[in-house]
Amino acid sequence: VIIGIDIGGTKIQQALFTENGKRIDTLVFSTQVRQGSERAINKIIENTSLLLEKYKLKPINIASINIGAPGPVNSRTGVILQPPNLPTWRNVPLKKILEEKFNCKVNLDNDANVAALGELHFGAGKNCHSLVYITISTGVGGGIIINRKLYRGWNNVAGEVGHFTIDPSGPRCSCGQIGCLETFISGPNLVKSLKEKLKYNEDEVFEKVMGKKSEDFSAKDILDAAGRGSRLANETLEVAVKYLALGISIINYIVNPEKFILGGGVIQNEKAEKLLIQPTVEKLGEICHFKTFSTPVVKARLGKDSVIWGTYVLGKSE
Ligand code: ADP
Repeated sequence: VIIGIDIGGTKIQQALFTENGKRIDTLVFSTQVRQGSERAINKIIENTSLLLEKYKLKPINIASINIGAPGPVNSRTGVILQPPNLPTWRNVPLKKILEEKFNCKVNLDNDANVAALGELHFGAGKNCHSLVYITISTGVGGGIIINRKLYRGWNNVAGEVGHFTIDPSGPRCSCGQIGCLETFISGPNLVKSLKEKLKYNEDEVFEKVMGKKSEDFSAKDILDAAGRGSRLANETLEVAVKYLALGISIINYIVNPEKFILGGGVIQNEKAEKLLIQPTVEKLGEICHFKTFSTPVVKARLGKDSVIWGTYVLGKSE
């Protein structure tokens, strides 16, 4: 069997796959970041043992354990370094811990890379030789596939598309740099940007849509309000679309993949196709030279499951 683990800021999902890709079972528990990494790792070990017992398996039956974790990670050593999404996890040698516990091969990579593999084999990139996956969630990340293989780069940062500076006079990013793509399009940054606009502007539609909650809203509320005609919510998305299109056009000139696949929490919104993806494609048509931008930009097909399916692929490809 192949075991897959999707570590997220909110929950940790573990799936048991047969070697030929049948997903037999899934266990989930909440990450409870404040309680630190030790509790979560003990729970991962406990759940792995539970899965084995349930199907009368032993550690020797595990072909590999494969993990998608919030970056940055060192995929070679299997250490989770210092993810902004898991502030209590610092330099966690998860590969080594699980290898010693279960005496099997353990692969670990950042969740965007793993999601790219999931979409390549089971999702929107099924027939592609090359693709770039971009996740727009709490952070922004990505994965580059070339010749149906993950391209990690010399130093493991290939595909970190959330963190190139797209506007040197932009805001400071959670990574410490200035004007990264992430600062214009991630869920929390959309909220920040609209909050800033609301300080100096009135928006009756937004206030009506949000009611009393207008102080405390999420990226989902912005898409909802934009769909109902809120001027400031639409302006916020327009800026995001502009920078997302700029980002995609730059990546296209460097990688020129067969497809761009957009995933992550924000893109899972039912209105994301209309409010984010289509306008981005239109913008690309305006800003790319020679009108050669014919690369499809599509929504991820596996939704929240891109990473967990990617863990299976990671197990088969490493
Ligand atoms: P994580 O970043 O932990 O992987 P997600 O991929 O769910 O988690 O991304 C969380 C971000 O996506 C948050 O900023 C959240 O507000 C936003 N988000 C989640 N669901 C939606 C939705 N349906 N519509 C718009 N934004 C959403």
